[in-house]
Amino acid sequence: MTRVALVTGGGKGIGRSVSETLARAGITVVINYSRSEAEAADTAQAIVNAGGKAETLRFDVGNNDEVESAVKGIAERHGRCDILVSNAGIAIDGLLLRTKATDWERTLSVNLSGAFYCAKAVSKLMVKERWGRVVTIGSVIGEMGNAGQVAYSASKAGLIGLTKSLAKELASRNVTANCVTPGYIITDMTSGLSEDLRDSILSGVPLGRLGTAEDVSALVGFLVSDAASYITGQVIGVNGGMRM
Ligand code: NDP
Repeated sequence: MTRVALVTGGGKGIGRSVSETLARAGITVVINYSRSEAEAADTAQAIVNAGGKAETLRFDVGNNDEVESAVKGIAERHGRCDILVSNAGIAIDGLLLRTKATDWERTLSVNLSGAFYCAKAVSKLMVKERWGRVVTIGSVIGEMGNAGQVAYSASKAGLIGLTKSLAKELASRNVTANCVTPGYIITDMTSGLSEDLRDSILSGVPLGRLGTAEDVSALVGFLVSDAASYITGQVIGVNGGMRM
């Protein structure tokens, strides 16, 4: 039996590293994207070239109908979906008074509702198999708050409540749910940081460097493995000690 994973936003940044890590563990990876088709195709090709199994699947995680029909397709093609890594996310930064209602709604829709729609759709398949792993990618900002990131921070804090509730509801079916909360990781999302902001962030990181996508995917790879079967409902930071 080959396990099947859905990695939302799995074609670039942290998601790409997660897709590659899972594929190296022998898992068939469904790489979701909404806009970055070329990156998703490139990730799938890299996995196949390395001897793994991957396919790409376009849908907007913030659209429940699209999520449901995508997961139905996975069930028809593979008969299962054992692992969900809910990684897709956007950051529309702005101070409270400058955050438009539409930016707030879009951020919540992708980062939080997206995780809910995906978890709801795949959990039916996991419950049937009596085995499953849900990993949500939160953020240190969801734990600490951050001036200028009201919507992002609220969406990521919401993910923690969602994950813990999933963990409690699904535990009796041998499905675990954990939230990984990265600190500042070098990806497109953080590529616009000014030198000053980067220095000020680094002054608060005891390990003295920004993180890499691999720092995060290594933990995700462990959490979806059989070795992590007694870990559920946890919020686990990968932040260089920025928050303890
Ligand atoms: P990227 O911007 O590189 O990746 C974001 C991913 O999310 C892309 O694959 C993107 O795909 C996908 N995505 C965005 N909107 C949607 C949507 N509506 N439907 C489907 N996929 C979507 O950033 P990161 O790799 O850094 O971010 C990955 C996750 O990690 C995010 O949840 C982010 O909040 C979180 N995180 C990142 C940190 C960092 O410092 N980088 C710190 C803490 C958390 P597409 O382009 O196709 O839409």
